[in-house]
Amino acid sequence: MMDSRKMVFGVIGDPVAHSLSPPMQNYFMKKLKINGVYCAFHVAAEDLESCLRGARAMHFTGLNVTLPHKQAAARLARFASPQVDLLQVANTLSFEDDGSHAFTTDPNGFAASLGREQERFAGAKVVIFGAGGSARSIVYALSQLGISGLTIVNRIESKAALLAQFCLQRLAMTDVQAVSPNHPDLDLFIDQAAVLINATALGMHPLTGETPLQKFTAVEKKHFVYDLIYNPPKTRFLFEAEKRGATVRNGLEMLIHQGLKSLNIWMQENFAMDENTLSELKSLLSGELQ
Ligand code: NDP
Repeated sequence: MMDSRKMVFGVIGDPVAHSLSPPMQNYFMKKLKINGVYCAFHVAAEDLESCLRGARAMHFTGLNVTLPHKQAAARLARFASPQVDLLQVANTLSFEDDGSHAFTTDPNGFAASLGREQERFAGAKVVIFGAGGSARSIVYALSQLGISGLTIVNRIESKAALLAQFCLQRLAMTDVQAVSPNHPDLDLFIDQAAVLINATALGMHPLTGETPLQKFTAVEKKHFVYDLIYNPPKTRFLFEAEKRGATVRNGLEMLIHQGLKSLNIWMQENFAMDENTLSELKSLLSGELQ
């Protein structure tokens, strides 16, 4: 029921129509008996500043921020968490009496989504495809997980080099290299790695036929292969890796975990994820994707 005490939440992005955040957050609110409603708002880049002023003026409780606003939101917020200061991206805004506070829940969402597979990361070498905004959050999470070496593969090599520099200078990582997708030693780097991660848009709807890796001969049973994409649920990257015997995981659990972490920030709570909730949400959101 709508009443004047209902808290208002939302996600802003461009495009945003297909976001899974509204069904997910409204599920959480119902389950956790929170008197709130969560909607998707299509906001163009030139309207972001006035949107944030309006959201605060109308006493919205919080917003999630998705492409292309993650960097601008970090800049425009009055206060930034230490992670936002470091990464210069925000996916969560909380509106308080003293102004807007920016957070990012992507790194923790990624780490939480690994479950038992987290054990594979300490001391391991990792190959990540992509050097965009989400890759920045993932490399931060990887540094916290104690990996021993990182290869960043990106179409625009200069962006991979910038991210590698960030890892070395700001995350105190020591063994980091940036390469192009056709580097002659890519198979060797894959062979030396325990984990491969796709943080590019390749394979995501509508680029479903595409994959950041062209040749899977170096992928084996020993590899844990993760794709941030969840639509489609099994990208060509995951499909080919699974065919080679690797353990694979898509980005749906990361989405769910980062969403709950945002809700915890807004509500100043510590709601925990349980197996039942995770499985109900996975099936609800998988249904939304069809
Ligand atoms: P960005 O736009 O910041 O980065 C896009 C990345 O994809 C860049 O590395 C870019 O390479 C690469 N890329 C895009 N198109 C091509 C192409 N045609 N050929 C080669 N490389 C390409 O996006 P994000 O980092 O925010 O998002 C990346 C992916 O992660 C998306 O699929 C998104 O849906 C997913 N994601 C999932 C989340 C989850 O919760 N599961 C959370 C956040 C993101 P280049 O630099 O060379 O252009």
